[in-house]
Amino acid sequence: MKNGIQIVITTVIIAACAAASGAALATRSASAVYDGDVIKGCKIYDFSGEEYFPLSQLARIYKTQIVWHPVTGKVSLMANNRRMDIFLKSTRYMIDGKRKRMGALVRTSGKEALVPASFATSVDFNDLAQTSSSWNPESSILVVEKKVNILAPRFYSNQDKTEIVLEQLKELSYEWNDRKPGKIVISFLRGRITCETIGIDDGVVREIEATNDGRQALVIIYLTAGAGKPEKKMLSNPSRLVINIPRTGLAGQEANKIAVLPDTSTVNTAGEAKDAGIMPSSASVVFSGSQETPAASGEIKNTAAATPAPVTALPAAAPVAASLKPAPQADKKRRLIVLDAGHGGEDPGAIGRNGTREKDINLAIVLELERLFKEAGEFDTILTRTNDTFVPLVERSSLANEKRADIFVSVHCNASMDKNSGGFEIYFLSEKASDDEAAATAILENSVIRLEGKPSHKRSVLQELLWSMAVNEFINDASELCSHISTEVMRRIKIQNRGVKQAGFYVLRGTQMPAVLVECAFMSHLGEEAKLKSRRFQHQVADSVYEGVRGYLLRKEKSNVAKNE
Ligand SMILES: [Zn+2]
Repeated sequence: MKNGIQIVITTVIIAACAAASGAALATRSASAVYDGDVIKGCKIYDFSGEEYFPLSQLARIYKTQIVWHPVTGKVSLMANNRRMDIFLKSTRYMIDGKRKRMGALVRTSGKEALVPASFATSVDFNDLAQTSSSWNPESSILVVEKKVNILAPRFYSNQDKTEIVLEQLKELSYEWNDRKPGKIVISFLRGRITCETIGIDDGVVREIEATNDGRQALVIIYLTAGAGKPEKKMLSNPSRLVINIPRTGLAGQEANKIAVLPDTSTVNTAGEAKDAGIMPSSASVVFSGSQETPAASGEIKNTAAATPAPVTALPAAAPVAASLKPAPQADKKRRLIVLDAGHGGEDPGAIGRNGTREKDINLAIVLELERLFKEAGEFDTILTRTNDTFVPLVERSSLANEKRADIFVSVHCNASMDKNSGGFEIYFLSEKASDDEAAATAILENSVIRLEGKPSHKRSVLQELLWSMAVNEFINDASELCSHISTEVMRRIKIQNRGVKQAGFYVLRGTQMPAVLVECAFMSHLGEEAKLKSRRFQHQVADSVYEGVRGYLLRKEKSNVAKNE
């Protein structure tokens, strides 16, 4: 998306009074974002051009404890079992008992202690709070990210095993404990991970819990009765601990039952929400507990019928989806995925309030996606751009057609004039938009066509007919692909899911394969802009898209096998 989103930050002069030193002191409002959450009511002080933050405000933003010592004239900040003492009207501070100095004097104003803005983004301050932060004086925005060195756990539910990948930004030493039945505890020394619980329930693993305990990160894998003896290996580039837990088939059938998609999903027909019904096709795979291999004994139920007009399956409230990898076949066709990073070169796409450019985020997510597909080893990928260059929309889709790609995924970030709009959306092509917001999104994404400077060539009647037939065929598939990706996003990312939508995107037009356009989050939302910049969020989005594509292709293969039998 592009244009019109450069929102001017109005800085309000709230008060002006004389400072102790005689220099003019002014305060203005500022914005702060902690891990994607906007923190309201912040301000910044100005002493003759030097910017200061109130220490109590920093404690609130960085989530540290604060203790005042009026007699000794110092303030203590505490976080993560560490302590920092800051001395008033001095440049001195102490961390872990070591004496240090900051760049400018700590000032006071009324009952506030004020520290230089540069100190709030210093290594020592961020070390204490276990964060990384940046201050943009032009936009008056302080962005704080929780420091993590272990990415969100990834998991792959296969027919014969469940694989869990714990990727580290740099290799960490770890302790492995599987002495207690039913769980594996992995503690990473000096590890830091986002606390979350991921429900899996695939008959092998019940859930994965990630927490931090003092200076170590803990990942606890809760197993079911269907789990065999786990195996682990540490791989490099990137550093990752890969855990394979075999499926033994000891658990009852009920525990092993895996639905590829929820059996009953709400259906939205071409934007008419009232036409809710049942997902036209559903498949579930049941493993028997016999001696046969799961692949041989797997019973495939497929109720696929003639699919009606374009259907959007919205994910159910509690998806239990888990994708299944079939047993490897020597002659299995490798799938080609075209990954399209939106915008590039002279077309920056949307620009966030803090100056982030959509084109850069799109490329980062696409490169992460490429890495995940390569890591899996069973896919080929082509990128429409691998660096910051301008590629016309029509070239993007024709590249996918020329290479006879199986799937086309275009990655974008959304924007809105309403700074509170946020969330994830995924689109497939339709000449009629599913709602006004979808139409607005398409207009913004299509506006780049003006930069291309070429009149769009008119198609012949025959071309038009062939094209619309192809489109109808692929639109049903694209709709299904959308619902797979949307479901994975809901499972993995804490972000509002705005659902599957339809609109007329030029980049999707004429693609002779299922093609979807992902709007990851909103550049115009301060919190989401910060999220989009974080490697962790980029990784989570890429992982969701990857798993959605994989799940969709596996489901297609299953239904083709069923049709041919
Ligand atoms: Zn865009």
